[in-house]
Amino acid sequence: MGKQIRVTIWNEYLHEVEDPAIGALYPKGIHGAIGEFLANEADMLIRLAALRDEEHGLTADVLEQTDVLIWWGHIAHHEVEDAVVERVYQRVLEGMGLIVLHSGHYAKIFRRLMGTTCSLRWREAGEKERVWVIEPGHPIAEGLDHYFEIPKTEMYGERFDIPEPDTLVFVSWYAGGEVFRSGCCYQRGRGKIFYFSPGHETYPIYYQQEVQQVITNAVRWARPTTGRSKHLANVSVPPLEPLD
Ligand code: ZN
Repeated sequence: MGKQIRVTIWNEYLHEVEDPAIGALYPKGIHGAIGEFLANEADMLIRLAALRDEEHGLTADVLEQTDVLIWWGHIAHHEVEDAVVERVYQRVLEGMGLIVLHSGHYAKIFRRLMGTTCSLRWREAGEKERVWVIEPGHPIAEGLDHYFEIPKTEMYGERFDIPEPDTLVFVSWYAGGEVFRSGCCYQRGRGKIFYFSPGHETYPIYYQQEVQQVITNAVRWARPTTGRSKHLANVSVPPLEPLD
C-alpha cells in the first residue's frame, strides 16, 4: 500500500446537537462515528469538518489535503456557502473522491455534480431495508454477501431523479414495497463519486458492520489517481507532427 488516503468527513452536525435522542445515539456526531471505524484502517488518515466550522471546515488548504471527502447533510443544505460548494466541485473535477451519504442526496454539491433535481420519495416508518448487491465484482461490494438487511430505516424510493449511474452497485427493497438505487457510482472530470443511501440519523445504521464495510470500500475505490491537474488546462497547442 502506498501513502495513506487522506479522508475528510464533513457533517452538518446539527441533529446530534439539537436532538438529545440523536445526540445519545451519535455522541461524537455522525462524522465522529464514521471517523472512528475508518481510523481503524491503517491506510487512512481521518479529519473531521462541520457546517459551523470556519468556512464549514472546508478551506482551500483542507481540500488541497483531502483525497476523499465524505458528505452528510440534511436540514441545512441551504446554509452551505456557494463559494465552498464551488471549491469542492473544482476539487472533484481535479480528482478528489466524493462519497455522499443518505440525505446528502439533496446537498448543493451533489445536485451540482449530477445536474438533476436529485429528488426522491421518502417515508419515515422504521421499516426494514434489504440492500441487494447487484454488482458483486465491484470493489465497493468487496466482502459482502448477496444482500444485507438494515432492521429499521427511513424509506428512500424511486423515482430518484439522478442521471443513470456509471455503475449501480446496490438496489434496496423496503418492507413497504418500494425499491431504490441505493449505491450509485459516477465519474465527473477526474473525480469518482459514490452515493450511498443508508444512514438516517435516528437509527444506529453507521454502527452496522456491512454499512461500515461499504463506506470503507468506497473510500479506497474513490481515492484519486495520479497526475491530477496537468490534463485540465484549456489551452491552444501546437501539432505534434508537421502539418501541410
Ligand atoms: Zn433521513
